[in-house]
Amino acid sequence: MKIDVLSLFPDMFTGVFEQSILKKAKEKGVASYKVTNFRDFADNKHNKVDDYPYGGGAGMVLMPQPIFDAVDSLKQQVAPEAKPPRIILMTPQGDRYTQRHAEELAKEDHLIFLCGHYEGYDERIREQLVTDELSIGDYVLTGGELAAMVIIDSVVRLLPGALGNDVSAVTDSFSSGLLEHPQYTRPANFRGFKVPDVLLSGNHAKIEEWRKAESLRRTRERRPDLLEAYKEKPE
Ligand code: SAM
Repeated sequence: MKIDVLSLFPDMFTGVFEQSILKKAKEKGVASYKVTNFRDFADNKHNKVDDYPYGGGAGMVLMPQPIFDAVDSLKQQVAPEAKPPRIILMTPQGDRYTQRHAEELAKEDHLIFLCGHYEGYDERIREQLVTDELSIGDYVLTGGELAAMVIIDSVVRLLPGALGNDVSAVTDSFSSGLLEHPQYTRPANFRGFKVPDVLLSGNHAKIEEWRKAESLRRTRERRPDLLEAYKEKPE
């Protein structure tokens, strides 16, 4: 998967792309990342990318020209017969991001993330350029960079080959529609707090049964909304 990010603060991504699963995915050829500063596409002599809002009001608004031109340039770098990219606007006004979005995006070949800053975007970017608008939650960040990182991390770990054998995305919370069951590791008795006997029994059928029951119990206690949706899902 090819991942492009348009940002005014490309350095924010350096650590994230160079650690852990994202780094390994790149090394294995599963994903590639490129961050482009759309200021480089500004067609004015001061490289200005924002301006005052028409009609007045606080804050600066990102102008369409640098972002449209940056996206055009990214599109030109891929073969014309390639599947068109998903162009994803980071915005608190977007669709609230969930594991379902991650699963859907993981099927794509090319994602382009647009990270805003300041007061927001010229509306024509929303209307004419993007294919998706995503929000990572009902709060306002300073810019779209952290939101893009969250989405990229959750998508890349779903790509075939991204996770090692010792990590599995299939049993993670939300993948099945439920929260994951509790996990324990050594020692079996830590300061008098014991691991449930069933996990030490070696009886795999019983262990699976316990895990399913715990997963349902947790979801019922913590996220009854998920449990309702799970029950309504067709088999
Ligand atoms: N004035 C905008 C509004 O009320 O919708 C908020 C602008 S915010 C300060 C600047 C940028 O941060 C946004 O353009 C967006 O790219 C990003 N951003 C902020 N909160 C976000 C969220 N919850 N999810 C995704 N992106 C977010």
